[in-house]
Amino acid sequence: MRISIIGSGYVGTTIAACFADMGHEVVNVDVDAEIVNTINSGRSPIHEPGLDELLENHSGEALTATTDYDAVLDTEVTFLALPTPAREDGSIDTSIIEAAAETLGETLQAKDGDHVVTTKSTVIPTTTSETLAPILEAASGKTLGEDLHVAMNPEFLREGTAVDDFLDPDKIVLGTDSDAARKTLHDVFEPLIAETGAPVVDTGIEEAEMIKYANNGFLAAKVSLINDIGNICKEYGVDAYEVADAIGLDDRISARFLRSGLGWGGSCFPKDTAAIRAAAREQGYEPLMLDAATEINDRQPARLLSLLDRHVDVADERVAVLGLSFKPGTDDIRNSRAIPVIEGLQARGATVVAYDPVAADNMRKQFPEIEYVDSPEAALDSASAALVVTDWPEITALDAEFDAMSTPVVVDGRRAIDRRDGIVYEGLTW
Ligand code: NAD
Repeated sequence: MRISIIGSGYVGTTIAACFADMGHEVVNVDVDAEIVNTINSGRSPIHEPGLDELLENHSGEALTATTDYDAVLDTEVTFLALPTPAREDGSIDTSIIEAAAETLGETLQAKDGDHVVTTKSTVIPTTTSETLAPILEAASGKTLGEDLHVAMNPEFLREGTAVDDFLDPDKIVLGTDSDAARKTLHDVFEPLIAETGAPVVDTGIEEAEMIKYANNGFLAAKVSLINDIGNICKEYGVDAYEVADAIGLDDRISARFLRSGLGWGGSCFPKDTAAIRAAAREQGYEPLMLDAATEINDRQPARLLSLLDRHVDVADERVAVLGLSFKPGTDDIRNSRAIPVIEGLQARGATVVAYDPVAADNMRKQFPEIEYVDSPEAALDSASAALVVTDWPEITALDAEFDAMSTPVVVDGRRAIDRRDGIVYEGLTW
């Protein structure tokens, strides 16, 4: 099939490369010429395992990128993979996806025949049918349900494992009220369904929109619940990981997402829990559980810093921050727990020395004043304390390197480091 994708960020680039790998002909449209050039040169504009290889194989052949919306005219279906960022009050800002829908609609005026537009971005229920569909219909001059069809196909990939997640999904959710759109989407995903046997959830547009928020809200709340329990464990000197291992054996609970620690960050859990809480309030419902999940998450960095305060006054001292990305495997620092940790250290007058294998350049834009080093050893050298923020393999492997610190205080937010003689070790929940 011929597929166009508007937006070539973490989602758009990954799905474009994966669709090309599935045998489709794909064009990525993005307003950023640098991103377009990078994709066309066969390289990935983001750090994502496996993506460079896919782009190297398919760029210039099954996959091309362009800044020109006219490229959609040769395709049967367009996916909108555009940012839906949070406003100040947590609600989603749909202005970017609305503007893209407008441009797409104007472009589709020149297309004879049917076109399917599918929302990939995470949007609050009714956004596709009540906001985007009318924009597309008015701008294109086409008629909804006749030669213009809309659908919603939420994306569940996780940064750091995005390619594997997309190519081996837990589920494929196809939300639409149009038989034509449903058939097109089944054709798009057929190679993946045949290869993996992934279950397909055929549903309505609003259900598809809500499934994404329900999924992320549930997982965010699960992590916050184990962090709540972990914080109680710490007060009693109980090892929260032994507790989690035991409760995870209960198949009603399951073992995944039970690693208590610094909490969640990234572009999805914080934004999506905030958006669905704001939307619920707008409907007159108080989402108490999701409110509490957010509050517990917001408190974990302060708890980490208070454990540091028990052992060392860091004013004018070098403090190593190990890991900057919101989780291993990505260079994404959006809502990373490293941000409040660095702010807390700065408020204490510490000299922050940061290490991350891939995310330092992104964090430098936010904190240009702190020192970034190329190795954990350089960060630990003469430091009075180390805070473990992201459990990258090169950080979990550290051991003798802590001996180069001036006072070996290690406060671990991710259960990355083994407790041993010779270091003063504090685990956040163990
Ligand atoms: P992103 O910020 O990484 O990428 C968005 C891209 O859109 C950028 O390259 C930008 O240049 C481009 N863009 C902006 N305006 C444009 C326009 N008018 N026309 C064409 N291109 C334009 O965003 P992302 O992380 O890929 O997220 C996209 C959506 O997918 C969001 O709704 C997000 O919530 C959702 N989502 C993200 C993830 C994730 O892990 N990042 C997972 C699932 C769902």
